[in-house]
Amino acid sequence: YFLCVHKQRNRTMIASIVCGGAGYIGSHTVYELIERGHSVVVVDSLIKGHKAAIHNEAKFYLGDIRDEEFMDRVFRENQIDAVIDFAAFSLVGESVNEPFKYYENNVYGTLKLLEAMERADVKKIVFSSTAATYGEPENDIIVESDKTNPTNPYGETKLTVEKMLKWADNAYGIKFVALRYFNAAGAHISGKIGEDHSPETHLIPIILQTALGQREKMFIFGDDYDTPDGTCVRDYIHVTDLADAHIKALEKLFKTNESGIYNLGNGKGFSVKEVIEKAKKVTGKDFKVEIEARRSGDPSTLIASSEKAIKELGWKPKFNTLDKIIETAWNWHKDHKNGYED
Ligand code: NAD
Ligand code: UDP
Repeated sequence: YFLCVHKQRNRTMIASIVCGGAGYIGSHTVYELIERGHSVVVVDSLIKGHKAAIHNEAKFYLGDIRDEEFMDRVFRENQIDAVIDFAAFSLVGESVNEPFKYYENNVYGTLKLLEAMERADVKKIVFSSTAATYGEPENDIIVESDKTNPTNPYGETKLTVEKMLKWADNAYGIKFVALRYFNAAGAHISGKIGEDHSPETHLIPIILQTALGQREKMFIFGDDYDTPDGTCVRDYIHVTDLADAHIKALEKLFKTNESGIYNLGNGKGFSVKEVIEKAKKVTGKDFKVEIEARRSGDPSTLIASSEKAIKELGWKPKFNTLDKIIETAWNWHKDHKNGYED
């Protein structure tokens, strides 16, 4: 029995570099990879991430994906099969005010990473894309073939990388899976890792910080959208379900050697007001909420069809209710009021 398991493990073991593996989604993916017997090298500059978020069985290199010599060394010192790339900036509002910063890290950064892969003869990559590639959607439920017309530089840089990946595949045979996540939320079920962005701009952590009394009040950015209650509608997807999709994407790349683009969401939309109400129930806390002006670059509604991922990757979200998502996030925030500093 043991021999059999071992053999099976050897056959499926994948060695990856996880760029941005100290960040929110990256750290959760590293946990899942290691739990399933894969080997992981984390590359992170810690410009946003946290050393404490890195699983202690992962090998860690502190550095920037734009640093050629550094990346060549990482590839040289490790036997690598594939890359998973989370390293980027991802704040919609900031990207509107500072677009060059986004092109510099997200587009040029991924270009340098692909060049390093090409030099090291590593031909498989899973890339963090986003629902922001669509912009204001044409249909209620978004499918991958829908029009892409980003309403902010952040989404534009991610779409640019998707196109670069297509041409890298064409020219160098680098096979890719681009995963267009909708709104990542929640925390690891163990309570050991969770969301700790600085500054925090995401809705659910801000709600929970307000519930904990760390913020005096919170703001709803606009209640005059063309949605049922006037506030923006988003599709929230649990971070561990995203992590699982990355592993399924890697496995698919090795099985079929085919590139592809996939939405990842739960297929259900919740308005900002609905998320706040649900969080008040889960936490049992009441707090002050005020209406503010719209935040620039925000589309009104983003809901995913993940049928393609379900069918082709064999992916199935497990933490698929807003309750479970908020519960796990609350579990983390309660015990880590100052994030990884606690
Ligand atoms: P995060 O900021 O927590 O993680 C990104 C990590 O990359 C950080 O640890 C940061 O230090 C590192 N990094 C950034 N630039 C780097 C560079 N040049 N070299 C080395 N390391 C670098 O972000 P996250 O929320 O975990 O998001 C991960 C990815 O998923 C991003 O690419 C983001 O655009 C994408 N995404 C996130 C969401 C979401 O809801 N959080 C939704 C859609 C897409
Ligand atoms: N939002 C809000 N108040 C906040 C933070 C966010 O009303 O303090 C809204 C935001 O305008 C958007 C939704 O909540 O409509 C989700 O925002 P988030 O930043 O979490 O994710 P995004 O959709 O931008 O990726």
